[in-house]
Amino acid sequence: MLVVAENQIAGLMTPEAAFDAIEAVFAAMARRKAQNFPVVREALGHEDALYGFKGGFDADALTLGLKAGGYWPNNQKHGLINHQSTVFLFDADTGRVSAAVGGNLLTALRTAAASAVSIKYLAPKGAKVLGMIGAGHQSAFQLRAAARAHAFERVIGWNPHPEMLTRLADTASELGLPFEAVDLPTLGAQADVIISITSSFGPLLMDGHVAGPTHIAAMGTDTKGKQELDPALVARARVFTDEIAQSVSIGECQHAIAQGLIAEETIGELGAVVTGDNPGRAGAEVTIFDGTGVGLQDLAVAAAVVELAKQKGVAQKVDI
Ligand code: NAD
Repeated sequence: MLVVAENQIAGLMTPEAAFDAIEAVFAAMARRKAQNFPVVREALGHEDALYGFKGGFDADALTLGLKAGGYWPNNQKHGLINHQSTVFLFDADTGRVSAAVGGNLLTALRTAAASAVSIKYLAPKGAKVLGMIGAGHQSAFQLRAAARAHAFERVIGWNPHPEMLTRLADTASELGLPFEAVDLPTLGAQADVIISITSSFGPLLMDGHVAGPTHIAAMGTDTKGKQELDPALVARARVFTDEIAQSVSIGECQHAIAQGLIAEETIGELGAVVTGDNPGRAGAEVTIFDGTGVGLQDLAVAAAVVELAKQKGVAQKVDI
C-alpha cells in the first residue's frame, strides 16, 4: 500500500485538483454511480472524543474506502489539532488496502471545494461581492476556493467573535481583494454570494437580511441541532445539497423540514446541476447549497492526492 502523510499533503494537493475531484464525484452521485455508506459516529466515553467512519464507493472512478477519525477536544495538551482523520483506500477489484492518506488538510480542502462548485453553478450572473459569515479555521480555505471559482471584486464579513475577523482580512489581502467587516443586515443586503461556516446552534442570517439575487453556501451545519440560517430563508430559496438524506437530518434543511416549511422532494442535488439534469438557479432569487459533507468527498480528494504523490514519486510504499 502507499502512504501519503499529513505533512506531505500541502505540497501535493492543489485547490484546483480538489475542485475537479469534488465536481466529478458530485456528478457521479447524481448519476447513481457513487454511493455513500451509512455514517458511524460514536461518543467514546474517553477524552470526550467523538469517533466515526464515513465510507463509500464511486463505481465511475473505482474509488472505495473510508475516512476514520473524529473530534478530540483535549488535543491541545498533546500539541495536536482537535479534528483528526485518516483516509484509507481499497483496491475495488480485490479488496486489498491500497493507500493510507492524512485526512486533516484534505477535509478543509474538500469542504471548500464543495462550496466553490456550488458557486460556479449557482452564483447569480455578474456577482461581485462575497459575504463571509464565520472566521474560524475553515473560513480561510472557503474564501480562497470561492475566489478561484468566481472573480469577486470585494469581500465583506461578519463573525460572532469579531476578534477573529483578522483571518478573513488577511486572507482577502493575500488574494488581492478589499475586505470590510460589516453587520449581518449589511452583509445580507450587499453580498451576491454568501458562505456561512460557523459552529452556530441558532439562526444567524435572517430572511429579512437577504436582498436581491443571492447564492448562499451554508457549510457550517453538519450535525443535528446546528443551524446558521432562518428557516423562512430556506423556505423561500431554491435549495440544493450534496446528499438529500443528510440535508434533512443533519444539514441546514433539518429545521425547515421539522417545521414543515419545505418538503424533501423540493431539495435538488448539486451533482444534478453539474450533469445538466437540473437547471439550477433558473430564475430563482435565492439559491442555497446545503453542504453537509459526505464520505465520497474525502475519498475523491484522497485518490487525487495519491495520484499526485505517485506522479512526483513521493508516495511511501509499505507492505501489509
Ligand atoms: P472553528 O472552531 O475554527 O471556528 C468556529 C467558527 O464558529 C468561528 O467563526 C466562531 O466564531 C463560530 N462560533 C463558535 N461558537 C459559536 C456559536 N455558539 N454560535 C455561533 N458561532 C459560533 O471551526 P471550523 O473548523 O472553522 O469549522 C466551522 C464549522 O464548519 C463547524 O461547525 C464544523 O463542524 C463545520 N464543518 C463542516 C464541514 C462540511 O463538510 N459541511 C466540514 C468541516 C467543518
